[in-house]
Amino acid sequence: MSLPALLVLGTGFGALNLVKHLGDDYAITVVSPRNHFLFTPLLPSTTVGTIEFRSIIEPIRSVREDLRFYQAEATGLDPTSRTVRCVATTDRHVFDVAYDILVIAVGAVSNTFGVPGVAEHALFLKELHDARELRRRIIRNFEQANLPGITPEERRRLLQFVVCGGGPTGVEVAAELHDFLVEDLRKAYPPLVAEARITLVEATNDILSSFDEKLRRYATAVFARQRITVLTESPVVRVTERAIVLKDGSMLEYGLLLWSTGNGPTPFVAQVQLPKDDRSRLIVDRFFRVKGYENIYALGDCCIIEGSPLPATSQVAQQQGRYLAHALTRRARGRSVEPFQYKHLGMLAYIGGRRALADLESVKGRGWVTWLFWRSAYLTKIVSIRNKLSILVDWLKAFVFGRDISQF
Ligand code: FAD
Ligand code: MG
Repeated sequence: MSLPALLVLGTGFGALNLVKHLGDDYAITVVSPRNHFLFTPLLPSTTVGTIEFRSIIEPIRSVREDLRFYQAEATGLDPTSRTVRCVATTDRHVFDVAYDILVIAVGAVSNTFGVPGVAEHALFLKELHDARELRRRIIRNFEQANLPGITPEERRRLLQFVVCGGGPTGVEVAAELHDFLVEDLRKAYPPLVAEARITLVEATNDILSSFDEKLRRYATAVFARQRITVLTESPVVRVTERAIVLKDGSMLEYGLLLWSTGNGPTPFVAQVQLPKDDRSRLIVDRFFRVKGYENIYALGDCCIIEGSPLPATSQVAQQQGRYLAHALTRRARGRSVEPFQYKHLGMLAYIGGRRALADLESVKGRGWVTWLFWRSAYLTKIVSIRNKLSILVDWLKAFVFGRDISQF
C-alpha cells in the first residue's frame, strides 16, 4: 500500500521542524525556491561579516533522507484536483505536484506598505542574498567616499546609513553596522568613519515595541551613546533615489537604505483562493487547518490562528511545525489530536557593543552577560554541529583578527 502524499511548501522554520519530526507515515515532497533552511536570527550578523553566510544555512536534504525535494516556487493551487502548480527556479518550466495533504509554510515578504519608491530604492533583509548585497553596499560606499574628487556633500550622503523600522531586525542591523564601523572600518577609513551616521527611523513612538519598557529605555540609551540616531514618530511617506521623505516634510539623504518595517503576503499567498484575514494571512484553526479545508494546513508567518493570533517569529513557526508533525503522525495512526498550545520562551535582541536584551518570563536581562546568553542561546538553536562549529570559529576569527573589509 502506498503512503499518503504530503506536500510541504517552503524550507523555513515551520517546514523544517515539520519535516524533521514527522514519522514515516507519509511520502514527503518539499517544494521551495530555496534548497536550504536559513537561520534568520543570525542573518543581521552576516551583513557585516561577524558570521559568514554559509554558517547559518542547512541543506534541506540533509534533514532527512526519505524526502523528495523540488527547487521551485508554488504559483497556484487547485483544491479540487488536489494539485499545486510550480515553476522551477532553475529554468522556469512549469509542472504540477499532486497531494493528499498540503502544508503551506511559505513565510512572508517585506511589506513596503505601498510607500512610493521603497520597492525601487530600498534594500531588504529576508534572504542570504539580501545580506550579501548589504555587505557589498556598505563597503562600496566607503570605497566611493574615499575617492579623490568626491564633494563633501556627496561623501556625507554616501556615509548615511538609514534603517527604516525599529523592530528587532532593524535594531540588530543598526547594532551590527555600528560594531563594524567602530571595530573594523575605523582602522581602514579613519576620517570617513568619523563622518558616518546611522539613523533608525520608526513610525510609532518607540523602538522594539514588543519588549519590556525598561529594556526599551536601556536600548535607546545605548544607541544614543553609540551615536545611532533614533527618529520615532517619523513615518516615511516617500523614497527617492537619494533620500527619504518623512511625514512632517523633512528630508533625510542616504547612501544606503534598509527597509524592515514588517511582513506582507508572498505572491503565492496573495493570489491563492483560500480564506484570509485583512492582512492577507491564511486563516487556520488551532489544528492549523485552513478554514473550510480538511486536508490543507498552513504554518508560521503566512497564517493566523483564528481567535488567538501569535507574533511572526521563528519560535512560533518552529513550535507549530513540531506540533503539526506530531499531529499528522497521530492522525495517520488513527489517534486523537489535541489543539496547539503556544509556549512563549521570551525574546532576545542584540543592540551592539557586546550588549543584548533578554525579555524572558522570569528575568529582564540586559548588557554584557545577556550578550553572552544571546550568543549561546542561538548557538544551541543552530541545527547542525557543523554549523555550531563554524559559528564559533567565525566569532573567534572576528574577535581576534577583525571582520573582513574586502569588496567582491
Ligand atoms: P520562513 O522561515 O520565512 O520560510 C518560508 C519558506 O518558504 C522559505 O524557504 C521560502 O523560500 C519558501 N517560499 C516562499 N515562497 C514560496 C512559494 N511560492 N513556494 C514554495 N516555497 C516558498 N524571529 C525570531 O523569533 N527571532 C529572531 O531573532 C528573528 N530574527 C529575524 C531576523 C531577520 C533578518 C528576519 C528576516 C526574520 C527574523 N525572525 C526572527 C523572524 C523569523 O525568521 C520568521 O518568523 C520565521 O522564519 C517564520 O517561519 P516560516 O516557516 O513561516 O517562514
Ligand atoms: Mg517554513
